[in-house]
Amino acid sequence: MSVSSYNPADPSDLVIEVEAAGAESTQAAVDQARTAQRSWLAIGAAGRSAALGRAADAVEANADELAALIVREVGKPLVEARGEVARTVAIWRYYAQAPYAPSGAVHEPAVGGGLLLTRRRPYGVAGLVTPWNFPLAIPTWKAAPALAVGNTVVLKPAPEGTACALRLAELAGLPEGVLTVVPGGAEEGTALVAAADVVSFTGSTAVGRAVVAAATGRGVPVQAEMGGLNAAIVLPDADIAQAAAHLAAAISGYAGQKCTATSRVIAVGDAYEPLAAALAKALAAIADPAALTEVCGPVINEAALERLTGAVDSAVAAGGTALAGGGRVERNGWFIEPTLLAEVPAGHPLRSEEFFGPVAVLLRAADLDEAIAAANDTPHSLSTSVHTRDLDVALAAADRLDAGMVRVNAPSSGVDFHVPFSGAKGAGFGPREQGQAVLDFYTAERTVTLLPAGSPQ
Ligand code: NAD
Repeated sequence: MSVSSYNPADPSDLVIEVEAAGAESTQAAVDQARTAQRSWLAIGAAGRSAALGRAADAVEANADELAALIVREVGKPLVEARGEVARTVAIWRYYAQAPYAPSGAVHEPAVGGGLLLTRRRPYGVAGLVTPWNFPLAIPTWKAAPALAVGNTVVLKPAPEGTACALRLAELAGLPEGVLTVVPGGAEEGTALVAAADVVSFTGSTAVGRAVVAAATGRGVPVQAEMGGLNAAIVLPDADIAQAAAHLAAAISGYAGQKCTATSRVIAVGDAYEPLAAALAKALAAIADPAALTEVCGPVINEAALERLTGAVDSAVAAGGTALAGGGRVERNGWFIEPTLLAEVPAGHPLRSEEFFGPVAVLLRAADLDEAIAAANDTPHSLSTSVHTRDLDVALAAADRLDAGMVRVNAPSSGVDFHVPFSGAKGAGFGPREQGQAVLDFYTAERTVTLLPAGSPQ
């Protein structure tokens, strides 16, 4: 079996074709990583810090090549691709300091003298399963902290991002067995989850749930970041022009293929009419051929395009109205117009499922309570934005929204790599990713008691 990826903006362009690892080679990669882990841990904090710093330098030195590869392999607009490379460099540098972080604490024994301490130790081999939409940043924000604290890594990237993952590992230049990529799909992902000592997954909800069940069934620690159905609440007092600009970016940026993209816009009271007009205009401007390439880009493949256009057509057939977009763009590649739909009836899948494209529904709410209830009416609570000038409203929303991230007067998309990141309810499972929090996830805490020789029992 081979794994191949094609340019979404030019489907005749084969980006890479390689042999899939298969289950046996995936197991062999884990075995090799387990052997390599002993020497990786033994090089100590200074050695691991230096190695992660060199990975950052190598990615930075090849930034233009990597940005072009992201554009070609997964269709990300160039400005965002450059941003992803810069973020990847920053993540390597940030975690290059982590080997020096304290790895435990000293406690006062309840009785007697001696030393009572806790110490965090790596599990061994971290098995990472990643999606295609951030083909450098997501593998890095999992691998760098896992490596920093002394694990070795086996990475199973999404087939659509195979070339990016292989180039990333090559540039990282780590010793044999420390960071291994196993190309493939579900077979290799399943084999990796069955063999690793700690598992981190990002991807769709259905696959994430299966990964969590498999890992917890084996009793190994697991975290999973899954799909979102993200809302934006716009209050009548908001700066409507700014809100429309932020929402247009959150709906159509990278063709809505971010887990944090906005797919439900909830307009409160009098905000509805002016917001509908301003947002429709902003999205229509992005359908212009130049902006479509620079801001939106294509969706990942033909199946995604058909799923999206089918959902839009069925929403319109059910009584919905396209205020902007609504159809495929007739050009080479998998392009769909940035789309805003009003009056989509309750129960339509566009209101309850993640479609992962530049399509949003516009909903009405009578007041803030109704808007918060509507935003919370999903298990996929990843990121919600609130647009208002009223601090009390913003504070109430930050308290009462279920989302893993609440962003006030900012798009729902956008993530700071040095703070915890995770969805709420069905959008995330297990400890948070990113920041310092994730260092705990990749280590097990043990308690050590040291008494002087000859102490009474
Ligand atoms: P996907 O679930 O199809 O695939 C994710 C990874 O799982 C891939 O590497 C895939 O090969 C692998 N896989 C597939 N079946 C498997 C199985 N049975 N066992 C183990 N691994 C298996 O997702 P995708 O299409 O690559 O990515 C898009 C999805 O990712 C969207 O739902 C998006 O919301 C989500 N996502 C979430 C976040 C987040 O942080 N919450 C970030 C980015 C993307």
